[in-house]
Amino acid sequence: MTLNHIFHFYGGVHPREAKVSSKAAIVAAPLLEQYTVPLAMHIGAPATPVVKAGDMVKRGQLIGQASGFVSANIHSPTSGKVKAVDFCLGAVGTQLPCVVIESDGEDTPADPLPPMADWQDTDPNQLLKRVGEAGIVGMGGAAFPTQVKLSIPPGKSIDTLIINGVECEPCLTADHRLMLEAPQKVLQGVAIAARILNVTNIVIAIENNKADAIKQLSKSAPTVDSNIRVAALQVCYPQGSEKQLIYTATKRQVPSGGLPADVHCVVMNVGSAFALSEAVIDGKPLYERVTTVTGTPIASPGNWRFRVGTPFAEAIKLAGGIQGKVGKLISGGPMMGMTVYSQAVPIVKSTSGILLLAPEEVFQYTSKACLRCGRCNDACPMQLMPGILSTQIENERFDDAQNWNVMDCIECGCCAFICPAGRPLVQHMRRAKAEVGAKLRAQKAAAQKAAEAKSSEAKQETK
Ligand code: SF4
Ligand code: SF4
Repeated sequence: MTLNHIFHFYGGVHPREAKVSSKAAIVAAPLLEQYTVPLAMHIGAPATPVVKAGDMVKRGQLIGQASGFVSANIHSPTSGKVKAVDFCLGAVGTQLPCVVIESDGEDTPADPLPPMADWQDTDPNQLLKRVGEAGIVGMGGAAFPTQVKLSIPPGKSIDTLIINGVECEPCLTADHRLMLEAPQKVLQGVAIAARILNVTNIVIAIENNKADAIKQLSKSAPTVDSNIRVAALQVCYPQGSEKQLIYTATKRQVPSGGLPADVHCVVMNVGSAFALSEAVIDGKPLYERVTTVTGTPIASPGNWRFRVGTPFAEAIKLAGGIQGKVGKLISGGPMMGMTVYSQAVPIVKSTSGILLLAPEEVFQYTSKACLRCGRCNDACPMQLMPGILSTQIENERFDDAQNWNVMDCIECGCCAFICPAGRPLVQHMRRAKAEVGAKLRAQKAAAQKAAEAKSSEAKQETK
């Protein structure tokens, strides 16, 4: 069934779509001689290595154990020898703990996790446990551990599951291809997530520039779960952002500083739904994903199923290599992606795209004065006032920026995209968020220390 009553979130922009790889079918990337697998490819604590240099491993074997509530298991992408437990360069430019695997060329699989073919009758807690065992994280970019996302916080209730098939970032087509080529697996993953959450209100949201995927999922959904509805959304960036998507699908507004659970919703990416199906039904942990490799300097843009730990350089080689000059290498899409400074950076669970821009496509920001035109206010989907905020931040008035809700900024880039003065607005927001975040953490630590001192004093007095 297709859902028709949908709403439009505030603001947003319409960048050129440039989804040139939308017709390119997913191809499995060939086996490499070596994989550099980060132990920190999710939000939260890095996984703890459970292998050491010299150990032999199999494909799908656990090599990193989740080290806290917000963490995720890591599995080997192939069979071979652990060359080193070391550090590698991550997409954000920091060093990450990693396990380097030298492939033995055999690609021998480890014993799978016990498949749960009868998942419809399996205890939801067992299904949730499997999500954690398989190391599933949000694959739309945030990499938030899915087990945590599907655990309903105490005092909250969930009535709606929204599956994010929006893929509103220009250039990226990995989710589109996945919905088109593996609708059954995606839908099974959706139904499993719904069973874990015990919800019957299930919406798969897809922008209407993916008409073939909308048609495919609308046709297949009733064969898996009659509660699944497909919503065809008008194209508008950043519709795939969690809070905006919740509004579009339900007209509910997540409060400032709040979470989707505050409005009884959980949002999950289609890639995570696919991984969930593989983990539960096939017993396969998450060690590979579909990634788009694209951009003007790329000879043959397309979509590949890469194993985690594949260097960007190998992905670019598979896409025919580089023609002409490269102005910028980005992990993700052009709006919210991260500039990467080395092709040695490995693909991780959240790498939705590898994008190369030609030198003439790289926008040069300026520090020109704000024109007070107000266009950024109209574009900001969080209803902030980016022009005023950026002036406060330039003058290091971070307390003012905090009072003007800079922490609500989702770093979508709409303001910078629309600004006629070419001001580096997102960079300003990131700087303020880092400053305010550090202040809040210091305040929390000081309050905790004071509470501990008070409790120790009270104990002394009791003695
Ligand atoms: S980057 Fe932040 S301030 Fe700019 S439009 Fe997006 S949410 Fe608003
Ligand atoms: S769009 Fe740019 S110039 Fe216009 S108000 Fe915002 S920051 Fe100022």
